[in-house]
Amino acid sequence: MKKLTVQEADILAGKFRSQIGLNPNDPINIKTFIRKHQITAMYRPLSVNSYGISCKSNSGKMFVLINSNSTRGRQHFTFAHELYHLYFDKKPTPHMCGVVSTVEEKNADLFASSLLLPKEGVYAMISNEEILNHKISLATVLRIEQMFQVSRSTLLIRLKNIGIISETQLKELQSIPVKESAKEYGYDTSLYRSGNEGLFIGDFGEKARILFESERISEGHYMELLNMISDEREEN
Ligand SMILES: [Zn+2]
Repeated sequence: MKKLTVQEADILAGKFRSQIGLNPNDPINIKTFIRKHQITAMYRPLSVNSYGISCKSNSGKMFVLINSNSTRGRQHFTFAHELYHLYFDKKPTPHMCGVVSTVEEKNADLFASSLLLPKEGVYAMISNEEILNHKISLATVLRIEQMFQVSRSTLLIRLKNIGIISETQLKELQSIPVKESAKEYGYDTSLYRSGNEGLFIGDFGEKARILFESERISEGHYMELLNMISDEREEN
């Protein structure tokens, strides 16, 4: 696909929400989504900057591997990014997301932030005064990121992309320590910490089970196994 604009990503994400029966502006509960759509998801420790991998079998079974070392907020983003590969990528081949920077990787990122942070839903949480002044308070930032369960950086980039904050305010807000600020405002900080290590949702037959049981295999080995799964497309 060609490089998407923010507006195009919003349209794709909006249509996707309606196709899967989600309200236009509500937060997405990722684990409910995984179960409802019979996706097989595994959470395993991967190296820094490796966020996830996904693939789809010929019969349409979907598999996603998420780095449990990344924060829960980042894991939600990774899952939404993988949904782009699974539903929109014309030539999906298993690859480690986060390591390479291609047009499809950028599109997947834009789609993920549109899907996780629907414009109208975000607007609804910001006061008219903040919208008109293009400046929002830290309290509002925290409320939105907690409501939509996204990382601070995902939210701030989205706010900049949809014209809510200026480049200057983006920099100001980026300089505030995330976990400390959440604690100060009385929020639970699990969103900003890693988690879900070892979690397995769904059933994708024997090969996924091999992945699941091989706790210490390398990322290269994951890739090999995923390629085996996608190769079955030819055999089936
Ligand atoms: Zn990707």
